[in-house]
Amino acid sequence: MPKARQLNIATKLTIWACALIAVFFATSAYLFRQVRQDAEISSLIVTENHDLDASIQRMLERLYNVQNNIRRYRILGGDQAAVGFIVEDITRFGEILDQTLKKHPRYAKDWEPLTSEFQITLDPAGTTGEDLAPDATVRDWTDILEQSLLENGADTEARLTALRDAGAHAADVGLYGLAFCLLVGVGGSLALAFTLNRSLAEVRRGIRDLGAGGAPRDVRILSNDELGELALAFNAMAARLRREERMRADFIAMLSHEIRTPLTSVREAVDLIGSGTFGEVNAQQKRFLDIAEQESERLSDLLLRLLSVSRMESGELELNPSEVDGTGLVASTLERLLPTASAAGVTLVSEVPEGLTCRADPTHIRQVLTNLTGNAVKFSGRGGTVRVSAAREDGAVRFCVADNGPGIPPEEQDKIFLKYYREPSVRNSIDGAGLGLAISKRIVLAHQGRIWIESEPGKGAAFCFTLPDTPDKDYA
Ligand code: ADP
Repeated sequence: MPKARQLNIATKLTIWACALIAVFFATSAYLFRQVRQDAEISSLIVTENHDLDASIQRMLERLYNVQNNIRRYRILGGDQAAVGFIVEDITRFGEILDQTLKKHPRYAKDWEPLTSEFQITLDPAGTTGEDLAPDATVRDWTDILEQSLLENGADTEARLTALRDAGAHAADVGLYGLAFCLLVGVGGSLALAFTLNRSLAEVRRGIRDLGAGGAPRDVRILSNDELGELALAFNAMAARLRREERMRADFIAMLSHEIRTPLTSVREAVDLIGSGTFGEVNAQQKRFLDIAEQESERLSDLLLRLLSVSRMESGELELNPSEVDGTGLVASTLERLLPTASAAGVTLVSEVPEGLTCRADPTHIRQVLTNLTGNAVKFSGRGGTVRVSAAREDGAVRFCVADNGPGIPPEEQDKIFLKYYREPSVRNSIDGAGLGLAISKRIVLAHQGRIWIESEPGKGAAFCFTLPDTPDKDYA
């Protein structure tokens, strides 16, 4: 067997599943990282920007109070209560500033003027009146803090934008990952199912043809995996079957030929003795000579059938189709079978309309009609009736041979067209070689026709076949 295998089905499945898992994990890992980043940005917004914003607001509030109290101090001409408020606000402002700088040291540089001037201004020893938190200084501080507030707002805005962009990107990646997984999953399964099914269908067809009694034919090898190997094994088996079939056909042909020559001599000798050429034959001798003649005729008939099967097997079925008088063909067949039918106590009835014609090889179709009618007579039993009918329908002529014999069980109906097959119930009681129907089927198929059986056990059987009006070249 050639070494053709590259990727077996298990490897293909594993690669496909790995690709799916890889994409799934890559997407999940990316989304996980993105969620963590988003959580970090959100936490920064809360712990840094929001906290800073609140602190600056509180400091500004204190400074606005200071400004108001300075104004009050001036209007009231040195109100000591206002001084007290100023000192308290400045002190609170200083504490908040300290705490904020501890939490957000990056503002140390920006707020340097605030801290240095704050130290000067709050020198507690004897600082009063105009020197106490001069108005201009407080305004500068307010400006610096408002500027920081704005910057912090812009920073918050930038972080929120980054958060939104990251979220949108994560959603995109998740969607693409999902779409890819779906594509690989559904597409991969469809592609896999298609290739597996294609290869399997090919092998199935070969097995079905073989089971239906067809000649063993090679199937196409469509893949290099286990199913390809199965197809190769099937082809090897088909080749062996063909070889054996040929050998059997050759053997049967040789045997038939070897038996026919001495058989002909025996028949001639029996005929000569029976005709009285060598002297008077008494009644008892005549009876035994008749039996010998009948038996040798049976033997000769069997040999003829065996020969025609082996010829058909080796493709030697040659058709010479012509316009045939179907009515006459049926009538002459029934006439030839009349002695056998009378001996068996069976009535033959023709139900073929006058002037029915068809395109066929008359010799072969006569053989089919003889086989089917002969079987019907054989299986009908004494007192039975065999009806042969024919009619034109849909571009073909349909022939049917119906009897009122035992019929054929449904499970046997497919098998009886196989070579050498005989139904178990008749194997030991009724003569036959199981070849008549196989030969008939070959002949009908060679005419592009169809042959089938309609039967219910106990209610007789009808064997029908069609002969389409096919142009001669189509028989080739
Ligand atoms: P043979 O008749 O020589 O055995 P055939 O190929 O003609 O071979 O028939 C095959 C089998 O089909 C028979 O053995 C029989 O079991 C069944 N058969 C054929 N014709 C009839 C029929 N008219 N009624 C019942 N069984 C039949």
